[in-house]
Amino acid sequence: MKKIEHLGIAVKDLEASNRLFEKLFGTPHYKMEEVASEGVKTSFFLAGPNKIELLEATTPDSPIAKFIEKKGEGIHHIAFEVDDIKAEIARLQKEGFVVLNEEPKRGADNKWVAFLHPKTTNGVLIELCQERV
Ligand code: ZN
Repeated sequence: MKKIEHLGIAVKDLEASNRLFEKLFGTPHYKMEEVASEGVKTSFFLAGPNKIELLEATTPDSPIAKFIEKKGEGIHHIAFEVDDIKAEIARLQKEGFVVLNEEPKRGADNKWVAFLHPKTTNGVLIELCQERV
């Protein structure tokens, strides 16, 4: 894994949170994107070199809706950039991690993504992501 690519934060109201994080970082979000297959609407901010993704549920059975129902708003996942997502998935499965997506899927921000089940990573949802070329 190369570096933290972004942090994902689950929010109830993306418009309100966009205004809040714009005040916090002193700069507006640079992109919004809906990932219909995941039932989420996202927006992205840069704080210096660090990327923050805000996620709002668009359907009641979206993973974000379920997360907020159980835990409330807050940090939802940590995303790590990898060079070869398929090789990382295979490596991590061999190491005993539960990978939620055996095949990488299309995520927001032009990425291939796969998630590790938090039960095998100390309660932290981890996203692997690779730039789509
Ligand atoms: Zn993410």
